[in-house]
Amino acid sequence: MSLSLDCQKLLQGRYEKERLPQDFSPERIVPDFAFNILNSLGLLYRPVVDEDYLAKGGSRPVWPEGKPFAVCLTHDVDHVSRYSFRQSARMFARDLPVSRALPKKARGLIGLGLNAAQAIRHANQDPLHCYERWLEAEADVGARSTFFFWPGWGSVGKHHSSDCTYELSDKVVFDGQKCTVAEMIREIDHRGWEIGLHPSWYSFDDVDEMKRQKAALEKALGREVVSVRQHFLHYDIRVTPHIQAEAGLRYDSTLGFNDNVGFRFGTCYPWRLYDLQAEEELPILEVPLIIQDGAMLKPEKGMRLDGETAFQYVVQLTESVERVSGILTLLWHPNYQDNPIWWNLYIRIISYLKEKNAWFGTVQEVAGKGCQKKHP
Ligand SMILES: [Zn+2]
Repeated sequence: MSLSLDCQKLLQGRYEKERLPQDFSPERIVPDFAFNILNSLGLLYRPVVDEDYLAKGGSRPVWPEGKPFAVCLTHDVDHVSRYSFRQSARMFARDLPVSRALPKKARGLIGLGLNAAQAIRHANQDPLHCYERWLEAEADVGARSTFFFWPGWGSVGKHHSSDCTYELSDKVVFDGQKCTVAEMIREIDHRGWEIGLHPSWYSFDDVDEMKRQKAALEKALGREVVSVRQHFLHYDIRVTPHIQAEAGLRYDSTLGFNDNVGFRFGTCYPWRLYDLQAEEELPILEVPLIIQDGAMLKPEKGMRLDGETAFQYVVQLTESVERVSGILTLLWHPNYQDNPIWWNLYIRIISYLKEKNAWFGTVQEVAGKGCQKKHP
């Protein structure tokens, strides 16, 4: 099939820019798949740009050990504790100025009180204080993933109601040891997993926010951070690529969907993002997000699938990625660790991908290897 779209225009983000919603303001909920040109053409579940590239004689990406395709496992760390009085109190303080109506304030106070009671009850055993289980499950299939961490409440200038509430100095338990979030981050890094930046809602068009948040995470980690995924996928194709590049980030993995799966830009190969204002390529590569857990499994939004049907979608997309030797990028939120449907599906998927002989790499690793393909 020959593609009626201009692939270069697609990858530069021109179709996405043309189709942004008329009410696209910083406060607006993130526009999703229904605005996408490929969705309107019924092409969301195929990497049509890669198929077109190969049909014209382009050479496939080559993966280590002759593996047929790559898999990039990622996690957005939105929560580090289920019950934390401190984190709830920050949320309450953030919401106070906007909740002028007394009932909303009262509800907030009741919620804070309930959370304090839960925090005391679960003081020794928070259900989220076992993130080492993700590393163990991934090590079992020979994989390492990228964990995108929020840079800490204090490093964020302007807060949004969807933002995370933890500080890097907050206490957690990792692998049976009491520690701070910063210590957990260093330990995950030390074991060979990648730490990326998960910046706040309002960082998408603010280079000072982006730089400050990147610096805060780097200070906790003790080394440079090169990969990024915007929290909530809050991103503006006209400005965010430039903001991220200006802050010194080299790999982004934001460009997927919150309410669907598939190929937002028709590709599962990394490509260089484009500055639509300066009309030039930027020194930042995109590793597109293909499958997000919440898009498939949340009962209140998105595809609203059961585990079995979700797995069938994963199989279909994996086969599409394998046909073009691309990268299948998955996002699983670690705070769903104690939800059996989400956890069991993740374990089933990574076992299946191991059987398919995939090469597993972090965002930084797959971007470095996958961009070596030759153009026709
Ligand atoms: Zn997030």
